[in-house]
Amino acid sequence: MSYQIDNFAAEEYRKSMRADCANCFGLCCTALHIAASSDFAIDKPAGVPCPNLQSDFRCQIHSELRGKGFKGCTVFDCFGAGQQVSQVTFNGQDWRESKETADKMFSVFPVMVQLYEMLAYVTEALSYRLPQDLHKELTLQLKDLESLTIRDADNIQTLDIMKLRKPVNKLLSKTSSHIRHTITNSIPTKRKLNYRGADWIGKSAKGKDLRAADFRGAYLIAADLKEADLRAVDFIGADLRDANLEGANLSTSMFLTQMQINSAQGNNQTQLPSHIIQPSHWAS
Ligand code: SF4
Repeated sequence: MSYQIDNFAAEEYRKSMRADCANCFGLCCTALHIAASSDFAIDKPAGVPCPNLQSDFRCQIHSELRGKGFKGCTVFDCFGAGQQVSQVTFNGQDWRESKETADKMFSVFPVMVQLYEMLAYVTEALSYRLPQDLHKELTLQLKDLESLTIRDADNIQTLDIMKLRKPVNKLLSKTSSHIRHTITNSIPTKRKLNYRGADWIGKSAKGKDLRAADFRGAYLIAADLKEADLRAVDFIGADLRDANLEGANLSTSMFLTQMQINSAQGNNQTQLPSHIIQPSHWAS
């Protein structure tokens, strides 16, 4: 990856950041602790393979996950951390070959997922037209994060993720403010734009113009956002579970992840950013 990254290269890089299960040793189905809930039918301790995981690391119930109570598995996305841990950190070693490898791999995986999540956000930020100094800061941040993802397993396990998140959040906030400010200058009507951490659970905002609003960390569970204009909205950390996005325009929404979209409801009329794939479970 060149560090003279332009907007187009960053956009392509962001699009490539998704799970490649064929090059992963079923890490999300093994490493993580998953408590039984409406999203996952059983209690699965960390480091124990899910009983539905086959010896070839494919899921035995892949086509029936939702119907069998494993909806959460159709939502999760590792941003590409699984193949990085499997093929780069552990150089293609299968965790079944040694307990020591398994233990290390399972503790590296959740750290790598968080590094990749930050990497995805920073890469997305670099795909926007930004002032030169901000672009430069983001480029340096990208370089730092990338260098962490190629460290050895012992080193990755000890990373202080909370500490690493601080400068990243600051840069993402600056990016969001810049982009939203640019958009709001072109919108004539004055309206509220700050919904950081707002509780919109079950609320109806059907058909509303919410362009350039800030929904960082907002609770949008089961909110009706049908046909809403959500362009340039910052969705970082927002909870969109079961939000109705049918016909909504999210084509230029910011910091939206595949997991957020997988957890929401939508249809063929929902417009999504280029790095997001329409979930197969959405109605047509
Ligand atoms: S149900 Fe399938 S996808 Fe979900 S954890 Fe188990 S093996 Fe993995």
